[in-house]
Amino acid sequence: MSSQKIQSEARKFALQNAVLFNGKANEKAVVGKVFAALKKEGVTPAQIISIVSQVVTQVNSISAADQLAELTTLAPELLQKEKKEKDFSLPPLPFAEKGHVVTRFPPEPNGYLHIGHAKAAIIDSEYARIYDGKFILRFDDTNPENALLEFYDAQKEDLRWLGIQWDSEYHTSDHLQTHYKLAEQLISQRDAYICKCTPEVIREGRFHAKTCTCREELTGPVGLDLWKEMLASREANRILRLRGEMNSENTAMRDPTLFRVIDTKHPLTGDTYHVWPTYDFAGAVEDSISGVTHPFRTKEYELRDQVYFRILSFLNLRAPHLMEFSRLSIEGMPVSKRKIKPLIEQGLVSGFDDVRLPTLRGLKRRGIVPEAIKQFVLQQGFSKVESVVDFSLVESVNRKYLDPLVKRYYFVPDPVQLIVENAQKKTVKLHLHPDATMGDRTIHTASTFFIPRQDVQKMKVGDVFRLKGLYNVRITKIGDTVHGSYEGEELIAETAKIQWTTDDCIELTVFVPGLIFKGESFNPDSLHEIQGYAEKAVAGVPSGEIVQFERVGFVRLETQRTKLVGFFAHK
Ligand code: ATP
Ligand code: MG
Repeated sequence: MSSQKIQSEARKFALQNAVLFNGKANEKAVVGKVFAALKKEGVTPAQIISIVSQVVTQVNSISAADQLAELTTLAPELLQKEKKEKDFSLPPLPFAEKGHVVTRFPPEPNGYLHIGHAKAAIIDSEYARIYDGKFILRFDDTNPENALLEFYDAQKEDLRWLGIQWDSEYHTSDHLQTHYKLAEQLISQRDAYICKCTPEVIREGRFHAKTCTCREELTGPVGLDLWKEMLASREANRILRLRGEMNSENTAMRDPTLFRVIDTKHPLTGDTYHVWPTYDFAGAVEDSISGVTHPFRTKEYELRDQVYFRILSFLNLRAPHLMEFSRLSIEGMPVSKRKIKPLIEQGLVSGFDDVRLPTLRGLKRRGIVPEAIKQFVLQQGFSKVESVVDFSLVESVNRKYLDPLVKRYYFVPDPVQLIVENAQKKTVKLHLHPDATMGDRTIHTASTFFIPRQDVQKMKVGDVFRLKGLYNVRITKIGDTVHGSYEGEELIAETAKIQWTTDDCIELTVFVPGLIFKGESFNPDSLHEIQGYAEKAVAGVPSGEIVQFERVGFVRLETQRTKLVGFFAHK
């Protein structure tokens, strides 16, 4: 077969795969498709692989839009058929022009990122990518009581792990002087005023839709003087408020706070500033002045949209196309820094990377891969409907991703000794994966094995089962130890195939995370341990690698001091 023919088939399928999977074709998947299409013509995988590899690299280097365009011309039928089955792509953005879309992800550096942040960051960066636009990482660090230096870097590290790239990055705290100028503009225009009322009076006023005298008196030139005093003194007895609408149905519009005094050292600016903008002010102003065209926020901010636009309109600043999506919530998991922090402070979890937490570090530790998180987020899509999803959805994409890629080994939970009376010594080579190219390991067997107690409990004398990959055993006696006899090597239909180890095995503890919340309260029973034996080859698996323990599930291995432990990801 001509390599040209292979190449043209490869191009079609690579484009199709790229269009389906967010612009990145997967080499293995494409090899599979090309092979299936050409095998009748006598082609071998070996002939295909290097050609596909080159084609996939080429296809992945062109933009998503070009991929789609080329596929539409080359093989529109491929677009039709599979698009219908699996369209996880994001819906088009309103008022978006190719090359002119700017998005941003604005985390507050007050904790480690969780899967909810991943949702936001993935959607933000995906749209920038789809439209050949720009994606900004902005640290919304205008509350010095919350911001901590370590989190700036930790958050970037977590985003990189997710595979997210940003075109530029800055801190909102870099722009405080600009914010002050804009505040002065608002005061001069009498669109903002200094309020000296106590927090209780302010709360009451908002509740009863009543204005205070500050609103008329402490604005304009008088307000400006007071503002300057506020910037000069550290006394926290006044705030700057927007002249909103005190009688608005939308309580967010009842003269929201724009600036307040927070006299705490800031991790970046130290004690240079003590007057800090609120989220309402900083968020709106930053989106506008940094050129963001399509800022996304979670739906809980919906009532504050009016404030956002009012501030920008008073300041005569460009209004971006603000959009909302639903906050990601997962059953039994705290997808919020506010809920995660107390768990850590009270010592209920081991840290931010506890495997029960939906932090990116916790998920990573437990063997959830970034590709799966991305796929999960895109599958969930852009809906505004608030819903609580089940973590099994994450598990199922993760499983699909890992299954063809990770090596398989034997791990025997709660082991029971098995003696095969008339066993011969054998040396077997077992594949590490049904895909034989992933290699194998060699095991020497004698008469002693270990098998899972759960399987033993279902056995009775006389039963035949198969030591997976080895031979059949007939049970002769069941006690503390199981005795059996060699029963040939031929596969017998419908016999249980059981994973095993020899006595040359390693002890392994596997930690199994469960749901950390039962309703709204902490579930103390959320982390289980399985003690067991893993086959010897597992000792050679590098720390951090994810494997599949046959009949048990996917487990990420980690060396703790000198001991190897496992974290269960899912079945
Ligand atoms: P948290 O309660 O976790 O502190 P937050 O919204 O205060 O949440 P930020 O660091 O301010 O956290 O958020 C950065 C971005 O991530 C925001 O745009 C926010 O809307 C988004 N985000 C945070 N949590 C979620 C979530 N659960 N689902 C979707 N997006 C989220
Ligand atoms: Mg926040």
